[in-house]
Amino acid sequence: MSDGEYPDVVLITGAAAGMGAGHARALAARGAHVCLADVADAGGVADEIIAAGGSASAHRLDVTDPADWARVVTEIHAAHGSLGGLVNNAGISRRLEFLDTTDEIWERVLRVNLSGPFYGMKAVAEPMRDSGGGSIVNISSISGQIGYFSPAYSSSKWGLTGLSKSAAGNFAKWGIRVNSVHPGLVETALLAGSDTFVDAALASVPAGRMARPEEVTEAVLFLLSHRSSYMTGSEVTVDGGLVSNGLYHRILADTGGNL
Ligand code: NAD
Repeated sequence: MSDGEYPDVVLITGAAAGMGAGHARALAARGAHVCLADVADAGGVADEIIAAGGSASAHRLDVTDPADWARVVTEIHAAHGSLGGLVNNAGISRRLEFLDTTDEIWERVLRVNLSGPFYGMKAVAEPMRDSGGGSIVNISSISGQIGYFSPAYSSSKWGLTGLSKSAAGNFAKWGIRVNSVHPGLVETALLAGSDTFVDAALASVPAGRMARPEEVTEAVLFLLSHRSSYMTGSEVTVDGGLVSNGLYHRILADTGGNL
C-alpha cells in the first residue's frame, strides 16, 4: 500500500528502460504497486524493484494496440481491483528533417507517441473512475511546445500536449486529473550517440547541462501525488530554461554580452 500520497496502483508504459524504469523505481520506493508495461521485457526491472522490497508486475504491452491495452488493464484490475495512476511514457524519436521523413516513419511515430496515449487513456478511464479518480501523466516534450525540426516527433508531442488538455476536460467530472510533462534534453539512451546534436543544443540551455532522469521523475511524482490535487490540463516543463530563455541565452553567449 502506498502512504496515501500516491495512487496505490500505477501503470507506467515504456518502463523496461530509460526514464520509465526510473519513474517506476521511484514510485515503488514510495509504496505504490507499479505495473511496468513495455513491448520489451520489463521483468528485469520488476524483479529488481521486488528485490529492493517494492511491489511490481511486468506486462507485455504494445501501446499502439488497443486490444493489448484492454488485456493489460483487465489483468491489473483482476489482480488489484483498482488503478489510480497512468504514466504514458513510451515514446520513440526519429530525428529527421521534413523531406527525410518517410510516410512510414510519420505513421509509426504518431502511432506510438500519440495514438498510444489515446488508447491508454481510453482503456484506463473507466477503471480509474470506478477507483474513485486518479492521475494521468503524459510525457510530451519541449518539442510539443515549440517548433522542432523533426516533423513526426514534434507533431506527435504537440498532439499529446493537446490530447492531455482535451482528456483533462473530459475526465475532470470523474476526479481524474491529466497533465503533461515536457522534458528538454535528458541524459538517456534516446540521446546517446548524438554528441554533435547534444553539444550544439546545450549552448541554448541556460542551466548549462542536460537534465538528470531523476529530475524528470520528480515532476512525474508530483503530478501523480495529491500534492498536485488542483492541477489538471497543465504543462510542466523540465528543461533548464531552454524554452523560456534559450534564444537570448545563446545570443548573450555568442556576443560575449557586447550588446
Ligand atoms: P527510451 O528509449 O530509453 O525508452 C523508451 C521505452 O519505450 C523503451 O523501453 C521501449 O521499449 C518502449 N517502447 C517503445 N515503443 C513502444 C511501444 N509501441 N509500446 C510499448 N513500449 C514501447 O526513452 P526515454 O529517453 O526514457 O524517453 C521516455 C519518454 O520521454 C519518451 O516519451 C520520450 O519521447 C520522452 N522524452 C525524452 C527526452 C530525452 O531527452 N530522453 C526528452 C523529451 C522527452
